[in-house]
Amino acid sequence: MRNKVIAGNWKMNKVLSEANGFVDEVTSKVPNSDQVEAIICAPFPFLASLVEKTNGSKVKIAAQNMHYEESGAFTGEVSPVMLKDLGVTHVVLGHSERREYFAETDETVNKKTHAAFQHGLTPIVCVGETLEQREANETKTLVEGQVKKALDGLSEEQVAKTIIAYEPIWAIGTGKTASSEDANEVCAHIRNVVKEVTSQEIAEKMVIQYGGSVKPANVDELLAQSDIDGALVGGASLEADSFLQLVEAGTK
Ligand code: PGA
Repeated sequence: MRNKVIAGNWKMNKVLSEANGFVDEVTSKVPNSDQVEAIICAPFPFLASLVEKTNGSKVKIAAQNMHYEESGAFTGEVSPVMLKDLGVTHVVLGHSERREYFAETDETVNKKTHAAFQHGLTPIVCVGETLEQREANETKTLVEGQVKKALDGLSEEQVAKTIIAYEPIWAIGTGKTASSEDANEVCAHIRNVVKEVTSQEIAEKMVIQYGGSVKPANVDELLAQSDIDGALVGGASLEADSFLQLVEAGTK
Protein backbone atom coordinates (compact mmCIF):
# COMPACT_ATOMS: atom_id res chain seq x y z
CA MET A 1 0.00 0.00 0.00
CA ARG A 2 1.31 3.42 -0.93
CA ASN A 3 1.01 6.25 1.57
CA LYS A 4 -0.98 9.33 0.67
CA VAL A 5 0.88 12.60 0.19
CA ILE A 6 -1.03 15.85 0.60
CA ALA A 7 0.95 18.91 -0.46
CA GLY A 8 -0.32 22.46 -0.10
CA ASN A 9 1.09 24.70 -2.80
CA TRP A 10 0.77 28.25 -1.50
CA LYS A 11 2.14 29.78 -4.71
CA MET A 12 2.86 33.53 -4.27
CA ASN A 13 0.60 34.08 -1.27
CA LYS A 14 0.84 35.11 2.41
CA VAL A 15 3.35 37.19 4.37
CA LEU A 16 5.67 35.72 6.99
CA SER A 17 3.38 36.30 9.98
CA GLU A 18 0.51 34.55 8.18
CA ALA A 19 2.74 31.67 7.15
CA ASN A 20 3.99 31.23 10.72
CA GLY A 21 0.47 31.42 12.15
CA PHE A 22 -0.76 28.78 9.71
CA VAL A 23 2.03 26.39 10.60
CA ASP A 24 1.60 26.93 14.36
CA GLU A 25 -2.02 25.89 14.01
CA VAL A 26 -1.44 22.99 11.66
CA THR A 27 1.50 21.31 13.40
CA SER A 28 -0.48 20.78 16.60
CA LYS A 29 -3.54 19.39 14.79
CA VAL A 30 -2.17 17.36 11.89
CA PRO A 31 -3.25 13.70 12.23
CA ASN A 32 -0.55 11.49 13.68
CA SER A 33 -0.90 8.77 11.08
CA ASP A 34 1.75 6.87 9.15
CA GLN A 35 -0.59 6.65 6.20
CA VAL A 36 -0.36 10.29 5.20
CA GLU A 37 2.40 12.81 4.65
CA ALA A 38 1.64 16.52 4.94
CA ILE A 39 3.80 18.97 3.00
CA ILE A 40 3.65 22.74 2.68
CA CYS A 41 5.21 24.22 -0.44
CA ALA A 42 6.02 27.76 0.62
CA PRO A 43 7.66 30.83 -0.94
CA PHE A 44 11.44 31.06 -0.41
CA PRO A 45 11.42 33.84 2.23
CA PHE A 46 9.34 31.69 4.64
CA LEU A 47 11.28 28.44 4.34
CA ALA A 48 13.80 28.88 7.18
CA SER A 49 11.14 29.92 9.67
CA LEU A 50 8.70 27.18 8.64
CA VAL A 51 11.35 24.46 8.81
CA GLU A 52 12.20 25.57 12.34
CA LYS A 53 8.55 25.68 13.39
CA THR A 54 7.72 22.25 11.98
CA ASN A 55 10.82 20.59 13.41
CA GLY A 56 9.74 17.43 15.23
CA SER A 57 6.23 17.51 13.74
CA LYS A 58 4.76 15.51 10.89
CA VAL A 59 4.66 18.52 8.57
CA LYS A 60 7.40 18.78 5.93
CA ILE A 61 8.42 21.92 4.11
CA ALA A 62 8.96 22.15 0.35
CA ALA A 63 10.19 24.84 -2.02
CA GLN A 64 8.18 25.67 -5.14
CA ASN A 65 11.15 25.75 -7.51
CA MET A 66 14.96 25.83 -7.56
CA HIS A 67 17.91 26.12 -9.92
CA TYR A 68 19.80 22.97 -10.91
CA GLU A 69 23.28 24.41 -10.27
CA GLU A 70 24.84 24.28 -6.80
CA SER A 71 25.99 27.90 -6.81
CA GLY A 72 27.23 30.61 -9.14
CA ALA A 73 26.33 33.71 -11.11
CA PHE A 74 22.56 33.18 -11.37
CA THR A 75 21.07 36.35 -9.92
CA GLY A 76 17.73 35.79 -8.26
CA GLU A 77 17.99 32.01 -8.17
CA VAL A 78 18.00 29.54 -5.27
CA SER A 79 20.11 26.38 -5.32
CA PRO A 80 19.40 22.85 -4.08
CA VAL A 81 22.33 23.20 -1.67
CA MET A 82 20.67 26.19 -0.02
CA LEU A 83 17.36 24.36 0.33
CA LYS A 84 18.94 21.23 1.76
CA ASP A 85 20.98 23.29 4.20
CA LEU A 86 17.78 24.92 5.52
CA GLY A 87 16.13 21.55 6.18
CA VAL A 88 13.71 21.66 3.27
CA THR A 89 12.76 18.09 2.27
CA HIS A 90 10.84 18.40 -1.02
CA VAL A 91 10.81 20.66 -4.07
CA VAL A 92 8.07 21.23 -6.65
CA LEU A 93 9.48 21.11 -10.17
CA GLY A 94 7.92 21.99 -13.52
CA HIS A 95 4.67 23.42 -12.19
CA SER A 96 2.58 24.53 -15.17
CA GLU A 97 2.80 28.15 -14.02
CA ARG A 98 6.59 27.92 -14.17
CA ARG A 99 6.43 26.26 -17.57
CA GLU A 100 4.03 28.92 -18.86
CA TYR A 101 5.38 32.14 -17.32
CA PHE A 102 9.03 31.36 -16.57
CA ALA A 103 10.17 29.30 -19.55
CA GLU A 104 10.56 26.04 -17.65
CA THR A 105 11.05 23.16 -20.10
CA ASP A 106 11.13 19.38 -19.91
CA GLU A 107 14.91 19.68 -20.19
CA THR A 108 15.31 22.02 -17.21
CA VAL A 109 12.85 19.93 -15.21
CA ASN A 110 15.03 16.89 -15.88
CA LYS A 111 18.18 18.74 -14.80
CA LYS A 112 16.44 19.93 -11.64
CA THR A 113 15.13 16.44 -10.87
CA HIS A 114 18.69 15.10 -11.01
CA ALA A 115 19.94 17.99 -8.89
CA ALA A 116 17.23 17.38 -6.30
CA PHE A 117 18.35 13.78 -5.81
CA GLN A 118 22.00 14.74 -5.80
CA HIS A 119 21.27 16.94 -2.80
CA GLY A 120 18.85 14.71 -0.94
CA LEU A 121 15.64 16.53 -1.84
CA THR A 122 12.49 14.71 -3.02
CA PRO A 123 11.16 16.17 -6.28
CA ILE A 124 7.44 16.66 -6.87
CA VAL A 125 7.35 16.78 -10.66
CA CYS A 126 4.27 18.38 -12.23
CA VAL A 127 2.86 17.29 -15.58
CA GLY A 128 -0.43 18.00 -17.31
CA GLU A 129 -2.20 19.10 -20.45
CA THR A 130 -3.96 22.28 -21.58
CA LEU A 131 -7.67 22.25 -22.43
CA GLU A 132 -6.79 22.42 -26.13
CA GLN A 133 -4.57 19.37 -25.82
CA ARG A 134 -7.28 17.48 -23.92
CA GLU A 135 -9.87 18.32 -26.54
CA ALA A 136 -7.47 17.21 -29.29
CA ASN A 137 -7.14 13.87 -27.46
CA GLU A 138 -3.45 14.46 -26.82
CA THR A 139 -3.47 14.15 -23.02
CA LYS A 140 -1.86 10.74 -22.66
CA THR A 141 0.84 11.29 -25.29
CA LEU A 142 1.73 14.70 -23.86
CA VAL A 143 1.86 13.53 -20.26
CA GLU A 144 3.82 10.43 -21.26
CA GLY A 145 6.44 12.64 -22.93
CA GLN A 146 6.68 14.94 -19.91
CA VAL A 147 7.08 12.01 -17.52
CA LYS A 148 9.71 10.22 -19.63
CA LYS A 149 11.75 13.39 -20.08
CA ALA A 150 11.56 14.34 -16.41
CA LEU A 151 12.75 10.90 -15.28
CA ASP A 152 15.38 10.41 -17.98
CA GLY A 153 18.69 9.16 -16.58
CA LEU A 154 17.48 8.60 -13.01
CA SER A 155 18.26 5.33 -11.24
CA GLU A 156 15.34 3.01 -10.52
CA GLU A 157 15.63 3.82 -6.84
CA GLN A 158 15.35 7.55 -7.63
CA VAL A 159 12.34 6.99 -9.88
CA ALA A 160 10.61 5.10 -7.06
CA LYS A 161 11.16 8.09 -4.77
CA THR A 162 9.97 10.72 -7.25
CA ILE A 163 6.49 12.12 -6.69
CA ILE A 164 4.58 12.92 -9.87
CA ALA A 165 1.73 15.42 -9.70
CA TYR A 166 -0.71 15.12 -12.57
CA GLU A 167 -2.28 18.55 -12.91
CA PRO A 168 -4.49 19.25 -15.94
CA ILE A 169 -3.83 22.95 -16.58
CA TRP A 170 -7.50 23.70 -17.29
CA ALA A 171 -8.38 22.48 -13.78
CA ILE A 172 -5.87 24.66 -11.90
CA GLY A 173 -7.48 27.51 -9.99
CA THR A 174 -10.60 27.31 -12.15
CA GLY A 175 -12.92 25.38 -9.86
CA LYS A 176 -13.12 22.72 -12.60
CA THR A 177 -11.83 19.37 -11.41
CA ALA A 178 -11.20 16.47 -13.73
CA SER A 179 -13.72 13.75 -12.89
CA SER A 180 -12.12 11.30 -10.51
CA GLU A 181 -12.31 8.60 -13.18
CA ASP A 182 -10.61 10.80 -15.80
CA ALA A 183 -7.93 11.84 -13.32
CA ASN A 184 -7.37 8.23 -12.35
CA GLU A 185 -7.11 7.15 -15.96
CA VAL A 186 -4.23 9.54 -16.56
CA CYS A 187 -2.54 8.66 -13.26
CA ALA A 188 -2.80 4.95 -14.16
CA HIS A 189 -1.31 5.76 -17.57
CA ILE A 190 1.60 7.52 -15.86
CA ARG A 191 2.16 4.43 -13.70
CA ASN A 192 2.22 2.30 -16.86
CA VAL A 193 4.76 4.59 -18.47
CA VAL A 194 6.94 4.30 -15.35
CA LYS A 195 6.55 0.52 -15.48
CA GLU A 196 7.68 0.58 -19.11
CA VAL A 197 10.84 2.55 -18.32
CA THR A 198 11.61 0.75 -15.05
CA SER A 199 9.62 -2.19 -13.70
CA GLN A 200 6.28 -3.09 -12.18
CA GLU A 201 7.84 -3.05 -8.72
CA ILE A 202 9.13 0.52 -9.09
CA ALA A 203 5.89 1.73 -10.69
CA GLU A 204 3.88 0.29 -7.80
CA LYS A 205 6.01 2.21 -5.31
CA MET A 206 5.73 5.60 -6.98
CA VAL A 207 3.43 8.22 -5.47
CA ILE A 208 1.26 9.91 -8.10
CA GLN A 209 -0.80 12.90 -6.99
CA TYR A 210 -3.67 14.65 -8.69
CA GLY A 211 -3.87 18.44 -8.64
CA GLY A 212 -6.37 20.98 -9.93
CA SER A 213 -9.16 22.50 -7.80
CA VAL A 214 -8.88 19.82 -5.12
CA LYS A 215 -10.87 20.78 -2.00
CA PRO A 216 -12.34 19.08 1.07
CA ALA A 217 -15.60 18.44 -0.85
CA ASN A 218 -13.98 16.40 -3.64
CA VAL A 219 -10.81 14.98 -2.09
CA ASP A 220 -12.35 11.73 -0.77
CA GLU A 221 -13.59 10.70 -4.18
CA LEU A 222 -10.24 11.46 -5.79
CA LEU A 223 -8.20 9.64 -3.15
CA ALA A 224 -10.49 6.61 -3.39
CA GLN A 225 -9.22 5.97 -6.94
CA SER A 226 -6.76 3.13 -7.52
CA ASP A 227 -3.87 5.23 -8.84
CA ILE A 228 -4.29 8.60 -7.09
CA ASP A 229 -2.00 8.65 -4.06
CA GLY A 230 -2.46 12.19 -2.88
CA ALA A 231 -3.08 15.74 -3.96
CA LEU A 232 -1.18 18.90 -4.82
CA VAL A 233 -3.50 21.66 -3.69
CA GLY A 234 -3.35 25.39 -4.35
CA GLY A 235 -6.35 27.50 -3.30
CA ALA A 236 -7.77 25.09 -0.74
CA SER A 237 -4.43 24.81 1.07
CA LEU A 238 -4.30 28.46 2.10
CA GLU A 239 -6.62 28.09 5.11
CA ALA A 240 -5.43 25.88 7.97
CA ASP A 241 -8.86 24.25 8.49
CA SER A 242 -9.19 23.29 4.88
CA PHE A 243 -5.60 22.00 4.66
CA LEU A 244 -6.18 19.88 7.79
CA GLN A 245 -9.35 18.40 6.30
CA LEU A 246 -7.40 17.44 3.18
CA VAL A 247 -4.67 15.76 5.24
CA GLU A 248 -7.31 14.00 7.32
CA ALA A 249 -8.81 12.62 4.09
CA GLY A 250 -5.47 10.95 3.43
CA THR A 251 -5.80 8.85 6.58
CA LYS A 252 -9.06 7.17 5.46
P1 PGA B 1 -5.53 24.76 -7.32
O1 PGA B 1 -3.97 24.72 -7.71
O2 PGA B 1 -5.75 23.72 -6.26
O3 PGA B 1 -5.76 26.16 -6.81
O4 PGA B 1 -6.31 24.45 -8.56
C1 PGA B 1 -3.30 23.49 -7.82
C2 PGA B 1 -1.86 23.72 -8.22
O5 PGA B 1 -1.58 24.59 -9.05
O6 PGA B 1 -0.96 23.02 -7.72
